Amino acid sequence: MNTILKVKNLEQRFELDKGILGKIKFKNGKFVKEERIVRAVNDISFSVDKGKVFSLVGESGCGKSTTARTIIKLIEPKGGTVEFAGENITDLTRTEMLKYRKRMQMIFQDPYASLNSKQKVLNIITEPMLFHGVAASKSEAKEKALDILGKVGIRPEQATRYPHQFSGGQRQRIGIARALAVEPEFIIADEPVSALDVSIQAQILNLLMDLKKEYNFSYLFIAHDLSVVKHISDDLGVMYLGKIVEKGSKVNIFDNPLHPYTKALFSSVPKLSGTNLKNSKGIRGEIPSSINLPSGCYFHDRCPYAKQICMEKMPTEREVENGHFVLCHLY
Ligand code: SF4
Repeated sequence: MNTILKVKNLEQRFELDKGILGKIKFKNGKFVKEERIVRAVNDISFSVDKGKVFSLVGESGCGKSTTARTIIKLIEPKGGTVEFAGENITDLTRTEMLKYRKRMQMIFQDPYASLNSKQKVLNIITEPMLFHGVAASKSEAKEKALDILGKVGIRPEQATRYPHQFSGGQRQRIGIARALAVEPEFIIADEPVSALDVSIQAQILNLLMDLKKEYNFSYLFIAHDLSVVKHISDDLGVMYLGKIVEKGSKVNIFDNPLHPYTKALFSSVPKLSGTNLKNSKGIRGEIPSSINLPSGCYFHDRCPYAKQICMEKMPTEREVENGHFVLCHLY
């Protein structure tokens, strides 16, 4: 079996203004409770092959990070299924999820917020090792932790320091070491470089790729910047308002982007101005609220190619060429 993660028809939504009173409004002479639901992830499907990197890209607020948190069940899915290594993990309890938590790890955008500021780095790495039984004793855990820290570029004498004594880039290295500590097969990297200086971003991306070569991980990589995912991805999904509007191999999407939103994303990356995207029109307007999703195609009010049908009917996903899928009435 070549697939490590299979996500099918995944949905995530959040109710706002919960509680007895909720959001009460006075309408037509009476008080009514207004239900507001954020539809963050809307029926998405994709899979990640073993040893490969699948990247989800899109503007902030498009549902990428919520997708990641739903897959790893930090939030319970509201619909659809998640299969990991052939097992359906969608409805597992917290206890049942523990063995999968060891196999699936997450690297967060803000390494400082995700590290316990009261713990020394060595403890941050050894604690999950001991919890998940990766090391049988404290001394074995310490030896393994120092080895992992060395791999991510943290020296042994730095292991007794606290997270605040490190730079942003070093903290992200510690976050990566913590993920590696439990010997996972699959890593979700949620915007791991977007909080870092450009000069540090390349170092962290190179580190992630070197580690992938060494350990043969599979990655789900979340980013809003196409230039970040260009070098590391095997496959790509482009997200807009909780939908995957285009997915395929990196070559498919970088050489022949089809969806108007993907084209617009490319046109907003200055470095790519020499590609075949000269005619793309850029992204106009603001991303609509995921509380009041537009009718029809969610992109219609920003799309330069929108037709009447786009406002009325959500397109059906089509496979335009081998493994290259697009959600647009133009295809
Ligand atoms: Fe544009 Fe219509 Fe395609 Fe949506 S379905 S991206 S509005 S052309």
